[in-house]
Amino acid sequence: MLTKDSGLCIRALDYSETSQIVTFFTRATGKISAIAKGSKRPKSAFDGPIEVFSHGKIVFSDSTREKLAVLTEFEQQPGLDSLRTNLFTLNCSLFAAELVSNLTDEYDPHPQLFDSFLQFLQNANEHRDTLVSLILFQLSLLKEVGLRPILNACANCKNLFSADWPQCYFSSSANGLICRDCEASFTDKIRLTKNAANCLSNLKTIAESDEKTLNEIEKILIRHFTEILHRPPKMAKYILGTIPSS
Ligand SMILES: [Zn+2]
Repeated sequence: MLTKDSGLCIRALDYSETSQIVTFFTRATGKISAIAKGSKRPKSAFDGPIEVFSHGKIVFSDSTREKLAVLTEFEQQPGLDSLRTNLFTLNCSLFAAELVSNLTDEYDPHPQLFDSFLQFLQNANEHRDTLVSLILFQLSLLKEVGLRPILNACANCKNLFSADWPQCYFSSSANGLICRDCEASFTDKIRLTKNAANCLSNLKTIAESDEKTLNEIEKILIRHFTEILHRPPKMAKYILGTIPSS
């Protein structure tokens, strides 16, 4: 049986002289791996070799879980080429793809996450905007996979966050903000600046946040994903490399 879906390539490996093994994040099916036979031939059913972040309508044969699916058609849509013109944007996009790949299972659909991922890639542009979109995307990914952090209250005692808190921390083990009264119990906590705490607890203000605050939040998120995955995401060092140490 053939399945039609919208797909976004998040991984492409050469398999032979003419074929590739590709991983698509699809809208209705979730993550799938497929063989694209003859994709590197000049004339193929895939509009040329398949690159990471190419997207469009795909058709693939159903796979059994032991066997790869076979990609039979791929109608590539233009539009994401600009990602490659800016190294920071490209690294952020590869980082986002790595997180999606690591935190979702094959054949487990997340249509909303698919939409926000595509939107993130389409909006990724100038450095600061890319950072804002990346932060929002990472938070929506956490929500989609059932790991939504608690950012409006202390994750431990549930006291609602207020801008008057003299100190505010983030803890991965608590999965959210931690107040001054509770911080002693969380050895992994990181103290947040006032700006970062205010921004995380009210994400509507993120677009107006200064770059220093955005960098601080991104660093915390990378550390959080490192805890979740039990290792740093491979692309993390490329993002951290652009963040000045304070
Ligand atoms: Zn507390």
